[in-house]
Amino acid sequence: MKEHPKKERTLVIIKPDGIQRALIGEIMGRYERLGLKLVGLKMTVPSAEQVEGHYTLDPEWRRVTGEKTINNYKSRGLTPPSEDPLEITAKILKNLKKYLTAGPVICMVWEGAHAVELVRKVTGGTEPRGAAVGTIRGDFVVDSYIMSDADDRAVRNLIHGSGSIEEANMEIPHWFKKDELIDYKVTHEDIIYAKELEGIL
Ligand code: GDP
Ligand code: MG
Repeated sequence: MKEHPKKERTLVIIKPDGIQRALIGEIMGRYERLGLKLVGLKMTVPSAEQVEGHYTLDPEWRRVTGEKTINNYKSRGLTPPSEDPLEITAKILKNLKKYLTAGPVICMVWEGAHAVELVRKVTGGTEPRGAAVGTIRGDFVVDSYIMSDADDRAVRNLIHGSGSIEEANMEIPHWFKKDELIDYKVTHEDIIYAKELEGIL
């Protein structure tokens, strides 16, 4: 039987800058107040291998991200540092490894209807400079690709959120063992999901 849509799960990582900037509660509160349920949580200092493994779970990630980044440069009227997508991603990956191993991160799994899509919406676009006002990145970060490229570092955007359900399904087991995820109920789920609103009056 297909699982009910309310069981969708997504991976969120608060990156080292989010923790250093004392935004843990603020960030978690955004997802919590949506009505999503926290089903997994851990603080860890990731290894470079763990970070590389995370970004390359999808064997196409190097090519797709490289091509997207090349197009990003061109759409900004800039010449990309290379026309080879794999060369571009090698550099991005090197910087992401430095960024994400710089300090503790917090890994979370959030569950609920449209969890993947809603976390991305509330988090805002990858480049904080262009992220919409009201999103976490739009409200709390000044960084941009111009800045991060100038200093040859990863863009500091506070958070990772799975990009699709398929990505989430690969990323969650990369960071959590099965028994580290907890199936449980919160009382407000009835108001969000129950078929009938009985028992209020
Ligand atoms: P995410 O899913 O929102 O994290 O974004 P992606 O999966 O597309 O990209 C992963 C990471 O690659 C981002 O967090 C950035 O660090 C980096 N990245 C993506 N696009 C660009 C780009 O156009 N320029 C640069 N410099 N880095 C990029
Ligand atoms: Mg992504």
